[in-house]
Amino acid sequence: MELDALLDKLKMEHLEAQLDTLCEQAAQRELDYKTFLAEALRLEWQGRFQRGIEARLRQSRFPWNKTLEQFDFDFQPSLDRRQVRELAGLSFVERAHNVVILGPPGVGKTHLAVALGVKAVEAGYSVLFHTLESLMTRLNRAQHENRLDATLKQLTYPKLLILDELGYLPLTHHEASLFFRLVVRRYERGSLIVTSNKSFLDWGEVFNDQVLATAILDRLLHHATTLNVKGESYRLKEKRRAGLLGRPKPADDGAETHEETEEEMPMPT
Ligand code: ADP
Ligand code: MG
Repeated sequence: MELDALLDKLKMEHLEAQLDTLCEQAAQRELDYKTFLAEALRLEWQGRFQRGIEARLRQSRFPWNKTLEQFDFDFQPSLDRRQVRELAGLSFVERAHNVVILGPPGVGKTHLAVALGVKAVEAGYSVLFHTLESLMTRLNRAQHENRLDATLKQLTYPKLLILDELGYLPLTHHEASLFFRLVVRRYERGSLIVTSNKSFLDWGEVFNDQVLATAILDRLLHHATTLNVKGESYRLKEKRRAGLLGRPKPADDGAETHEETEEEMPMPT
């Protein structure tokens, strides 16, 4: 069999595409057989690995791709960058621990959640992103179509599940109990990153039930890191710079204007 056909049969398309260049370089560098073989196989493996990352990034359904390198920690001094770097090491994913990111609109909660998610994808983990709204739509539909159990099961497969924007929309009691079932299923099996604009004290209101909220928090926080982002909205920074808004009040705790809250409402799916 010819080399091309062999590469084709073995599905070594990355090697096939770069074979001529690789052989030329090997000749120039006078590589021995073993080194050449290792380089050829490494090239194929790298191509496959990269393609795997791209496929898992698509499956993750991130609203956009943001990285930790793009995050300006100087702008958000309330955030402990060492703690974030430690999370980026992903041992929390390995141990099925959780991360809760709290803070007002625009401080970078989704950015941080997505950035950790991207790191997890690059490390080979399966990741899924949902806003609370898209999660509830999915669970409600599944229940309506009599396949709630299968959907809950699917939602336990990703090693990391990101649930963004808890607290913007109050949940019905029924939705809260669906959320509880999901948290119970994933407890100590897979990690959750939850972002919320509401402090834990307000979760009773969000879930429409104090007892359920306590039970959810109990499992969520048993093994968890909480990041409290207290700073100013990054989105408003640009507007302030352009002179479109007044300066923040000295005691500004990050609470945003009504206008900004509405900007937050569109749910990326
Ligand atoms: P939140 O989810 O807290 O409402 P986002 O994560 O959506 O905020 O951030 C709003 C926008 O500002 C996004 O485009 C995000 O990338 C950007 N952003 C927020 N904080 C920072 C930061 N510290 N450095 C760089 N970009 C930031
Ligand atoms: Mg957000």
